[in-house]
Order: sequence, then C-alpha cells, then structure tokens
Amino acid sequence: RGVLVVFEDVTPVEKAGQMRRDFVANVSHELRTPLTALMGFIETLKGPAREDPAAAERFLSIMEAEASRMNRLVGDLLSLSRVEADERMRPAERVELGALLRASVAGLAPLASEAGVTLIDALPEETDGPLVPGDADQLRQVFSNLVENAIKYGGAGAEVRVAMDAPAYEPRLRATGVRVRVADTGPGIPEIHLPRLTERFYRVDSHRSREMGGTGLGLAIVKHIVNRHRGRMRIDSTPGEGSTFSVVLPVD
Ligand code: ADP
Repeated sequence: RGVLVVFEDVTPVEKAGQMRRDFVANVSHELRTPLTALMGFIETLKGPAREDPAAAERFLSIMEAEASRMNRLVGDLLSLSRVEADERMRPAERVELGALLRASVAGLAPLASEAGVTLIDALPEETDGPLVPGDADQLRQVFSNLVENAIKYGGAGAEVRVAMDAPAYEPRLRATGVRVRVADTGPGIPEIHLPRLTERFYRVDSHRSREMGGTGLGLAIVKHIVNRHRGRMRIDSTPGEGSTFSVVLPVD
C-alpha cells in the first residue's frame, strides 16, 4: 500500500536549469510524435492512397486523432504555464466548493457512463459551501483532472466516488481546511511510481496513457494549482484495489 504526500516544494536554483532543459526535450518529443505521424499520412495521401478512398478515409481519421492530441497537449502546456507563473499569489475569489464539485461530477456523468464506470456523488447535499479562497476555473480543473483520471484508468466496471469532509482543523495547513477525496476501484498504482506521479510527462504506462488520450501533464497541473491555493495533496493506492487522491484546501 503506497502513500505519497505532496508538499509545497521549492526547487533549488541549480536543479531548475536541468529541469527546464529536460522539459523542453520532453515537449519536443511529445509534439514530434503526432507530427511525424501526420507528415507520414500526408505523404501517403498525396501518393498511393489517392486511388483508394476507403484507405484515405481511414488515414484521415487517424490524422484527426493525432491533431487533436497535439491540440490537447498545447492546451495543457498553456494551463501549466499559467499556473506555474504566479505560484505563490493568494487567490482573491471565494469559491463555493460543494457547488463546484457537484457541478463537476454532474458534468462528467456522460464520460463515466460511456466508459462503463459508476460515478458516485457522495458530497454533502445540504450545503453549497464551504467557501474556499481560490480561483474557480483552476479548482474546477483540479477536480475534473482527478475524476477524469479515475474514470479513464478505472475502466469499465470500476466505481468512482467523490466525497468531501466537513471542514476541520488541519495541522499540516495550520488552519481550517476541507478535504475532498476522489476514490476509484481501478487497477491502483504500484508504490514505486508514486513519488514521480506528479512530474510533468511521467506516466506509469505510456502506451496506455496515450491510448486514453492522456498528455502526462494532468497531475502536474493539479499539483501546481493545489500549491497555489496553499493546499496539500495525497495519493493512497493499493494495486488491485484502487487509488484515492485527496486534496485539502484552506477554508475561510
Ligand atoms: P495522463 O495524461 O497520462 O493521464 P496524468 O498526469 O494525469 O497524465 O497522470 C499521470 C499518470 O498517473 C497516468 O499516466 C497514469 O499512469 C497514472 N494515474 C493517474 N491517475 C490514476 C488513477 N486514478 N488510477 C491509476 N493510475 C492513475
């Protein structure tokens, strides 16, 4: 059984340069893969596939999928650069977290049913709160990334449950916080991967992630947004049983 606690970490200057170089190399590689496929299919369409409309049709659908992969990747890169920019800024808005979560879960119901996953809203019914100082768009992104992952990796037959505790004093925050849990009964994650899971482009199974349309940036974005909100994230996972991603955010 593995547990990872993500701290608000500060990267030493000497490490930052190396990380930036790795990042640029990774981005180039991630962009080049779909681009190479696109260029190959363009060549084929200009040549042999001209005479074969059925093949051309098939190639065009693959090209569409590759182009939308690039589009998702660029979208996630932009999100990441936005949330990394002013990590320590204190967000000014007050967000009704209960209402935000309920809407996120409802919005992802179609995705869950398409995947054959049972998505359970275990949120307290009687309240829209608590009020969390934050950025509504960013918090929505945190929970939609976590729930989408739970659905994606949970797979057909899995159960995904979203729950929220009543606000309580959180010693790690030295403040009152609210804990949200996204739990799935999916395959779980072997412990050795946990420390690296929130790194940009880190995947347990690259092939499966790509097949599921993943960019490898989802949890990196989640981590930065949670840090920005002075929150904490924790991942508990047991292979064969499932994973729970918990996020604690300070409340007003
Ligand atoms: P991706 O775009 O690949 O989904 P993420 O940053 O969102 O990237 O997640 C990183 C990796 O963590 C995934 O590739 C997957 O291997 C693993 N992962 C994330 N969430 C889950 C989950 N709920 N169950 C099992 N594995 C998960």
